[in-house]
Formats: sequence, structure tokens, C-alpha cells
Amino acid sequence: MPSNHAINLRTTSGAKMEDVRFSFGVTSSKVRDRPIREGQGFSIELPAVLDLLETVAAGEEQAADARELLLNVVDTLYDSAGCYDYETVEDKLAWCVRDGGCQTCEEQRSSFAHHLETMAERWRRWTLPDEFPFATGSSMGLHTVKCGVVRRDMPDGFTAHKPDDVAPLRAFAHAYDDFGLPVDESEQLPAHVPFQPMSGEEARAWMTENTGPKGGRYYKRCRMCAPTP
Ligand SMILES: [Zn+2]
Ligand SMILES: [Zn+2]
Repeated sequence: MPSNHAINLRTTSGAKMEDVRFSFGVTSSKVRDRPIREGQGFSIELPAVLDLLETVAAGEEQAADARELLLNVVDTLYDSAGCYDYETVEDKLAWCVRDGGCQTCEEQRSSFAHHLETMAERWRRWTLPDEFPFATGSSMGLHTVKCGVVRRDMPDGFTAHKPDDVAPLRAFAHAYDDFGLPVDESEQLPAHVPFQPMSGEEARAWMTENTGPKGGRYYKRCRMCAPTP
């Protein structure tokens, strides 16, 4: 989202420039592509640039100081302009590894805890096939837990992570891009259990829930295992 900002600058020589207008996300040139931290995406009003150059031309300001002054604006505005959201998924992940955590991980912490609870419960049920003989996965198929389709995709074991385990939290939090698409299709989420085992009663309720008012089914009954809850 483009944003406008007004800040007061003070040059190294002590001169003040008030109400200098900056924008982020309005325009940029491919010719001068660079990281956001080095100015990418930021614009400044032309009169302010001209005034600043004038102080340099008059010998009141060093060119290097003027450059530093403008570059520092990026740090000042980075958060309020929402720059982090524009960083690449690769950079976000690299910085998270370097810093031992990040804002994305913090935002995902409670979802991760919820994910772990859901997966642990799926696994518990998977170990009790007599109590939970039916299963459904992400593609809305209904199976028995003995079905080959289910057995093929279910993991051999289950690793119980804690919600504050840094590496699994990172793998979970950085698994999707800004559009909610998986960054790496072949990567599974930590502790992922792809099927939800259900009791007969739960399976019947689930079938009702996923049946339209005119009797149309939103789920598929597997032809191989032909489940009859
Ligand atoms: Zn992170
Ligand atoms: Zn099946």
C-alpha cells in the first residue's frame, strides 16, 4: 500500500529542513533496483532535494552527509511505511535465521500452537483405528483409515513439537508467501498429519455438513475403500 510521510530533517551542520515529504511504494525505476533498506521504493519531493543540493553547492554541507541524511530516512520510516511486507520471502527467512526469530514468526505463533494441537489430536486418533475408523483429508475425500490412499500419505511417526520451538515455528511461519501460496510445494509443514480420523458418528455429521440443501455432495466417497459410516 503506497503511503505518504512528512518528517523534519536536521543536517550534520545543524540546518533544519521542516516538513520534508516522502512517499513509499508510489514509484521506482528498474534501472536503480536495490534493497528497500538502501532506498528502494522511497520518493522525496523535488524542492527538498534541490534545497539540500544547494546547501552542498554552497559548501555548508558535505555531499556524504547529505546522502547519509536521506538514507537514514529509510530507517525512520521503515516500520510506519510497512516496508517489511514488501521484502522478499527469501530475505525474510534469511533474516529470521540470522536474528533467531522475526515478526512473521511472532505473528504466526498462536496459529502454530493451534496447528500443533490439531495435528497431535489427529495422530492420537490415527493410533486408535477402532474408535476412529474413518478419515478425511484436504481434498474432501471420505475414506476408511485402512484405505491405501490414506496409508500412503500418512507419516510413519509423529514428532511432538512445542509451540516455542524456534526451527519448527520458523518452518511453519515462513511456509507461505504474501498471497497464502506455499513457498515450496514439496515441503510439508512441521508435524503435518494429512488426514483427520473420525468416529462413525463424527463421519456421519461431517457428511451431513458437507451435503447441500438439494442433496448434492461437497465430498467424495472413495471408490477404493467404499466407507459406510
Ligand atoms: Zn521468522
Ligand atoms: Zn479410500
